[in-house]
Amino acid sequence: MNRICVFSGSSAGVLEEYAHTAASLGRELARRGIGVVYGGASIGLMGCVADAALEEGGEVIGIIPEALMMKELVHSNLTDLRVVDSMHQRKALMERLSDGFIALPGGYGTLEEIAEMITWLQLGFHSKPCGLLDVSGYYAHLIGFLDHAVDQGFLKQKHRDKLLVADTVDGMVRALGEFRLP
Ligand code: AMP
Repeated sequence: MNRICVFSGSSAGVLEEYAHTAASLGRELARRGIGVVYGGASIGLMGCVADAALEEGGEVIGIIPEALMMKELVHSNLTDLRVVDSMHQRKALMERLSDGFIALPGGYGTLEEIAEMITWLQLGFHSKPCGLLDVSGYYAHLIGFLDHAVDQGFLKQKHRDKLLVADTVDGMVRALGEFRLP
């Protein structure tokens, strides 16, 4: 894998573990020579991932819509910054540049990004691995909900299984590397 896209909160969250894991993920990807693609912000967990990967000498590509950039929260020190017109263009470019996707804890933005990537995988628009990094059980309710969706006949088990889940950085990166479409 050359590059992994990391989706994460524009907030840091309550537990220190969130920022700590975001930084570990950034460092680990850089150490493995895997570039980071992300939303280009300097704030929240997004900033933690980018700063840690850059400190470790890694490649970090930020992709940001112009409207968000004007909030002056864009990261000023990235390997490459791509400014796009819309959130749609941002996601399309993130998908094109990346070989896999990891969601750290986050809110609506993080959810819609990983949901779109796993939907595209389900539909066969790409065949790249998608994973949830379940830091301190943050995603336990979402994982429970997905199993409920399977029980209720809205999600096929084979598609449910395509979303990889791990609770450590190592486990997540390994799971993405081992992913093969059935
Ligand atoms: P959330 O998970 O709701 O915090 O949202 C994360 C999403 O919001 C990602 O798509 C981010 O790129 C985006 N986002 C929010 N604020 C900013 C910002 N100031 N700069 C860049 N992206 C942002």
